[in-house]
Amino acid sequence: MRIARVRAYPLMARIEGLAEAPVSVPRSSTTADLIFAGYRALLVRIDTDDGRQGVGEGLVRLAPNAASAIIEALAPLLIGRDPRDVDVIWEDLYATMVNRGHTRGFMIEAISAIDIALWDLIAQERNLPLHKALGGTHHPTFPCYASSVRIKPPEAAAADARALVADGFEAIKLKIGRGPGRLHEDLDAVAAVRDAIGPDVRLMVDANGGYDLATAVRVARELTRLGCAWFEEPLPTDDLPGYAALRRKVDVPIAAGESWFTRTDFREALVRETVDVVQPDVSRCGGVSEAVKIARMASAFHVAFAPHTGQSSAVCLATSLHLAAAMPNTTTYEFIAADWSADQANPLRTELSDFDFANMRDGGTARAPDRPGIGMTVDWDAVERYRTEG
Ligand SMILES: [Mg+2]
Repeated sequence: MRIARVRAYPLMARIEGLAEAPVSVPRSSTTADLIFAGYRALLVRIDTDDGRQGVGEGLVRLAPNAASAIIEALAPLLIGRDPRDVDVIWEDLYATMVNRGHTRGFMIEAISAIDIALWDLIAQERNLPLHKALGGTHHPTFPCYASSVRIKPPEAAAADARALVADGFEAIKLKIGRGPGRLHEDLDAVAAVRDAIGPDVRLMVDANGGYDLATAVRVARELTRLGCAWFEEPLPTDDLPGYAALRRKVDVPIAAGESWFTRTDFREALVRETVDVVQPDVSRCGGVSEAVKIARMASAFHVAFAPHTGQSSAVCLATSLHLAAAMPNTTTYEFIAADWSADQANPLRTELSDFDFANMRDGGTARAPDRPGIGMTVDWDAVERYRTEG
């Protein structure tokens, strides 16, 4: 099995007319229109000389063509290689730019896409679902939570939460972090949702880095009072000293990691005792190879693993299900139950393959696909429909 061809597909499905940023982003009054103009993804397709086809995804949230260009530049390092040398290939790809400081961002998102496609091929060749190929199925089923009730007025957030519980979810996540001067709206929304779902449904809260330390401490104390299961990304992603200080001051578990890259970022986060839950995204952190290293490293710190997924395509969602099944310290899976736009669902999740994501959930639990590889057949004509130059 040798790599014969590598192709990258920068994708975007436009969103028209969002009234408010659905999740917290810095400087949203100027940045939100650009960031939330569409659902974006980068897919890679790797064909082998024996007729197999692997697919991977990079979690780009802007300029998918930037990561696409990186993959095209890296392709000569892949042609003729055996996908089963995945760890050797990962180190070769990383080595191309590490001395230039490209250890995060688009570079690692491009490598993530390649690595996922290689693991898809490895598991197909062994005729095993990916979770078996990764060492076995620790969790035939595992808890999942509904992601997410978006930033909206408290009554509307409570109604959304009630609907998710009626749909069978036993845990849900609420977005907060509106920014300076709007703290009372965040706290009112959390209280309204807790009141709507009652004390027995697990409630996670995600600020997407929207607070400073003093505000996060205030919010965390309220979340403790309301029995919240975790406080996700309370602080800007690079403020590890802040995370360490916050975790020493408050009781609610702290979760983060969707914006961290490679085992190097996670080593720092774990050594500094910043989090109770790590949330690497397989399409951002460096692929399956790196996500496995991160989850296992977290297990050595007795820190839980809960893979991030977000507004990604079916490729990321399915690969993350395999990781959740295969890692010993998985506690829950982010099951996407709402989109950035209430009336414009993400077609990259539903239209690009035969993978039936909704069917992977039964009430409050989820499971990984049991077909070989990551478990889907991609419709490349559908992929072409969302190809973008931007
Ligand atoms: Mg998050």
